[in-house]
Amino acid sequence: AEKARLAASHGPGRTADGHPVKLLLNIGSAADLRPDAEGVGLFRTEFLFLDRKQAPTFEEQVAAYAEVFTQAETVIVRTLDAGTDKPLPFLGLPEEPNPALGVRGLRVDRLLPAVLETQLDAIAEAAKATGTQAWVMAPMVTTMGEASGFARRARAKGIARVGVMVEVPAAALRARRLLQEVDFLSIGTNDLAQYTFAADRQHSTLADLLDPRQPALLELIAMCAEAGREAGKPVGVCGEAAGDPLLAPLLVGLGVTSLSMAPVCVPAVREALAALTLQECRERARAALS
Ligand code: PEP
Ligand code: MG
Repeated sequence: AEKARLAASHGPGRTADGHPVKLLLNIGSAADLRPDAEGVGLFRTEFLFLDRKQAPTFEEQVAAYAEVFTQAETVIVRTLDAGTDKPLPFLGLPEEPNPALGVRGLRVDRLLPAVLETQLDAIAEAAKATGTQAWVMAPMVTTMGEASGFARRARAKGIARVGVMVEVPAAALRARRLLQEVDFLSIGTNDLAQYTFAADRQHSTLADLLDPRQPALLELIAMCAEAGREAGKPVGVCGEAAGDPLLAPLLVGLGVTSLSMAPVCVPAVREALAALTLQECRERARAALS
């Protein structure tokens, strides 16, 4: 009943002419779930464990993931996204001069491989216990080797769908090749803007550089969407841009298949998409790119 409530209450996302666009939630825990979305596009698992001095146990993780799986139809779990800029005290990562360019996201696996192993085991166990198909993705993936290594390990645990986030220009440039290794891409426009424009995402003086309407960013998104279309695989956006009713139609015009956003953003984005045809979304995208 809980699942039906989450899936149905306001209908799926569509343009005025009926082109479907999945509207998904960005959540940090089960408490963030809302009934009016089609699933979870970004479960930021690090939010569960931000204040922990001890690593969460396998059992604790299974419980936290299962709590979300029982309440939503499709859930994309992001493996821990930590670094010295987003610290998880239990990891004990060494200080770094350039945290945003350092050991963060999937790169933590270079120092602490057991952390990802336990997390993948816990996600697989929670999926099995709840009869859910788990979708899993890794943050800060940069190379093919990272993507294929992650996919191999996740699949070995029996995880149904494996994807990677596109947050680094190198990954966007290789989107077509990445999709030979993984089942889906999720574009993190917050970090993709930071790394494309070499501008700290927290820096208010540089806000114009981080504007998601910057054509260079839109071109990278378009490349990913085109690669997804060719491969017949989903390519979504889960950065803040996806939750902006002015930008959402543009992203759809570029060809992305889902938008994942803070729960509070869903009604306005649904309304913005319903007011425009797919052709009008494409025209907006074309105008923005030029
Ligand atoms: C992003 O970078 O756009 C993203 C969705 O991840 P986070 O904001 O958690 O870094
Ligand atoms: Mg990110």
